[in-house]
Amino acid sequence: MKVAKFGGSSLADAGQIRKVVDIVKADPDRRIVVVSAPGKRSADDVKVTDMLIALANAVIAGRSCACELDAVVGRYAEIQRELGLDAAVIHEIEADLRSRIEQRSANDAQFIDTIKASGEDNNAKIVAQVFANQGVPARYVNPKDAGMLLSDDFGNAQVLPESFTNLRSLRDEKNVLIFPGFFGYTRQGQVATFPRGGSDITGAIVAAAVEADVYENFTDVDSVFALDPRIVPESPPISLLTFREMRELSYAGFGVFHDEAIVPAVRARIPICIKNTNRPEAPGTMIVAERKYEQGEVTGIASADGFSAIYLSKYMMNREMGFGRRLLQVLEDEHLSFEHAPSGIDDMSVILRSRQLTPAKEAQVLDRIRTELEVDDVTIDHGLSLIMIVGEGMRYAVGVAARACAALADAGVNIEMINQGSSEISIMFGVKEVDRKHAVHALGHALLTIAKKP
Ligand code: ASP
Repeated sequence: MKVAKFGGSSLADAGQIRKVVDIVKADPDRRIVVVSAPGKRSADDVKVTDMLIALANAVIAGRSCACELDAVVGRYAEIQRELGLDAAVIHEIEADLRSRIEQRSANDAQFIDTIKASGEDNNAKIVAQVFANQGVPARYVNPKDAGMLLSDDFGNAQVLPESFTNLRSLRDEKNVLIFPGFFGYTRQGQVATFPRGGSDITGAIVAAAVEADVYENFTDVDSVFALDPRIVPESPPISLLTFREMRELSYAGFGVFHDEAIVPAVRARIPICIKNTNRPEAPGTMIVAERKYEQGEVTGIASADGFSAIYLSKYMMNREMGFGRRLLQVLEDEHLSFEHAPSGIDDMSVILRSRQLTPAKEAQVLDRIRTELEVDDVTIDHGLSLIMIVGEGMRYAVGVAARACAALADAGVNIEMINQGSSEISIMFGVKEVDRKHAVHALGHALLTIAKKP
């Protein structure tokens, strides 16, 4: 059996929803369908999830939310009319939203999640009805009844292990099941959502729980590309890559697939296939546990802005027992999660996502590091990009780093930091955000085979 997840652009309007129905009908193995909320219909459109966040924020600010509510209901009403669905669906959606608004709790993050989750939830009900109207026996699944249990980190929740056992029974259903992505429930019964883009995670959890033969992830591109096509339009597609390669690439900005969605699939060894809703006949990209590779081969290069680096130095740091632990303890006390911590003899850098830092938080952390760790110097730099060169073939291969450094030097890009993970399947460079695109271009042309434009 297959679990098929459809992203927001695949469900953005009636035309797209019809394509989804056709895709599912074309293969009887597609038995569980995980859906996102309606996404953008064009580059300047707004996703339903963002409209819902605006709605929740209006309520939190104590403003009237009538406009925001109308906008969301209007989006669904357009879909309902074009699909010729009963108008009762729209009244139900409006009533659902009003009742969620009334559940305004003291916890803003939890309230936002309750509103945000309605995007997927209501869309799943619509999609189930479209299937039924087309004569496909289909049923909407309520994640609460199905046992999709999440931690209470609202907006950033993680799956609880018992969900996998709970969801297993979905396997025995005869109907096509329409499962809303992106959210679940805490043990206390409150709605909680995954991080943004989290319907991919739902799909992977469901696929792992039912032990699907494949997890199909339908989006709006034919495949995963070796380089961001917005930076290098002639980027080659990738037809096969490993879970580890995909995890590293999506961590550093490959938006096609959520990096946290890899984990459940890896644990259950479910292959993932990225496919295009607009061109389902294209083979797509397969992500598997193992593949044959050639020594030295680079699979893809990803990059992401939005990092900050704390640099600190202290003579004889290498001899000071417990220094690293105490540094990381400061970060933990301040609820800051760190991404990487490359170190030298007398110095250490800690890379963090900039969005966690406020000026006050930053001042507090630097002050604590200065006084509690008695460092000689500590500074923080913002505007750092990470570039990740990824490939199983880089393991034990000599010379990839040299070629990469030479390419960056030729392009006049200063390397702020280099880090090679112990798995040796990735090399990470830190560069200034202003240099990122230029650097990716240079690295792509040096390390990948890129066909010249005709
Ligand atoms: N609708 C949610 C978002 O926009 C989740 C998803 O589409 O995966 O982030």
